[in-house]
Order: sequence, then C-alpha cells, then structure tokens
Amino acid sequence: MYTVSVQAHYDSAHFLRNYKGKCERLHGHRYVVEVALQTDRLNEAGIAYDFVDLKRHLRELADELDHQNLNDLPPFRDVETSAENQARYFFDELKKRLPEEQAAGLLYARVWETPQQWAQYGPSPAAVPAHRSPAIS
Ligand SMILES: [Zn+2]
Repeated sequence: MYTVSVQAHYDSAHFLRNYKGKCERLHGHRYVVEVALQTDRLNEAGIAYDFVDLKRHLRELADELDHQNLNDLPPFRDVETSAENQARYFFDELKKRLPEEQAAGLLYARVWETPQQWAQYGPSPAAVPAHRSPAIS
C-alpha cells in the first residue's frame, strides 16, 4: 500500500462560540493542513497520485480560508471553527474534487492549530474497504 501526503498553510482568525476560556475571544493561528491518501496501484509513471494536482486542490481550499475570520465563512456559520471541524471541511471538500478512485483512498485531513496540537478527520476503520485493512490472522 502506498500513502502520499501534502500540506498547505493558512493564516486565519477565529473564536469558539460555545467555549469558556481564551478561545472564546477572537484570535489567530497559522494553521497547517495535511491530507493523505492511500492506494495499492501506481500509474505508468510509478506514482500513486500526482503531488502537483493534490497540492493544487489543497492550496485552493486553504486559500479560501486564508486571511479570513473563519466565523464569517459559510462552511462555519452553523458549526464551530474548531480544528476538528476544519479537518472535516478539508476532508469533505477534497473528496468532492478528487477523481473517484483517489477520493475512495482519502485517509485523513489533519489540521494543526499549533506545532504541538492537531485534530484529524477521516473515515472510521469500518468504513475503509476490507482490502485496505491489515490482514487478520
Ligand atoms: Zn484558536
């Protein structure tokens, strides 16, 4: 099985509406988003999925959040701007953009809020096709 992964970053402001503490106040982060996809097949160039295409899609999604107050943006109008929800946003949006086979292999989207903390979203192990799971002896 092959795994490929790319990152992009975006600088954004946000606050948490339903939280008591520092994060209820408007503040900013340099977010880093990482996505990974997995496949058991390589193309004739020996690559799983072209980094150039994957980075372009991720960059375009990150650019939509860059230098914005996330709380003002439609995807977060009804959900909190937590790193968890941002990870889900990237996962779902990237899945829509990728060709079917790559979309099926999307493993996770991970959003770092700081270099020390991240949140990740991906399908539950049960949702991953059986041939992608480790063999059970
Ligand atoms: Zn924050």
